[in-house]
Amino acid sequence: METRATGKLIIANGKFIRNGVEEKPEHGNAEQIYVLRKHERIMEQFENGIEVKPSYDHIITASVSFTCQCGIRLYHEIDELEEEDVDYFVDTLVHCRECGQAYTFEINDDKKLVVKPSQN
Ligand SMILES: [Zn+2]
Repeated sequence: METRATGKLIIANGKFIRNGVEEKPEHGNAEQIYVLRKHERIMEQFENGIEVKPSYDHIITASVSFTCQCGIRLYHEIDELEEEDVDYFVDTLVHCRECGQAYTFEINDDKKLVVKPSQN
């Protein structure tokens, strides 16, 4: 009686394994040949090491909003920050899209981030 094979056939420690159970090598078994060849290709690549490129997530985004002197709401966002730090805003410029007024950020005497109209 033959039970139908389910689960992915892999090679581990030189043996065919399916669902954690060793499968005997069978002459001419197409699936085993395919898995074996794929395994050999991968092992060849590992001889010199396979290059891996990390992808970094810059998850910190900081945003502020304030009301321009013309009355519309301005929004400024800085992303890809390495840490939460208001210093990132200092000396950045925001221009109002309606009236053209520029604003810049600074740290006031109370160590608070404040925004002020800029001459630039
Ligand atoms: Zn404005």
